[in-house]
Amino acid sequence: MSQEHNMRRVTAIRNGTVIDHIPSGQAMRVLEMLNIDKSTSVPVSMVMNVPSKKMGTKDIIKVEDRELNQDELNRLALVAPEAHVAIIRAYSVAEKMTIEVGEEVINVVRCTFSNCITTNPREPLPHRLRVVSKEPLTLRCHYCDRPQDLEKLIGNLKSNGCFL
Ligand code: ZN
Repeated sequence: MSQEHNMRRVTAIRNGTVIDHIPSGQAMRVLEMLNIDKSTSVPVSMVMNVPSKKMGTKDIIKVEDRELNQDELNRLALVAPEAHVAIIRAYSVAEKMTIEVGEEVINVVRCTFSNCITTNPREPLPHRLRVVSKEPLTLRCHYCDRPQDLEKLIGNLKSNGCFL
């Protein structure tokens, strides 16, 4: 199936963000990571299980009238590190953004352990999680060295409305 055909599966958008090459089945998690839900006022379209030469199948998300910022890209990297992000302006790709997971994830998500030193308001430390492995993504807190559960990290976002 041609790339062009895949692109036409989702209606072209005038302005906004296209997140392509999301691992199949991860689109919902990506939306959660970006804090996009029914309270989001802009149109969001999502296609799942699109045939992909490279990946077998993939998911694609289009968010209209919204350009992802660096914070959002950093969060996206945790659930879809291979995703391709394109900013669309006037129906064409204005910017391609790369996402990557480095050696450390700083001020993106917070340690999930409530007795970690980073949760003490009198100790304003940056939130640092060490990347132990990329495939699959394994994170440990820089301070308490405990392994981080990705579902809990996402859960924090939902309960707090923000990560930090
Ligand atoms: Zn910690």
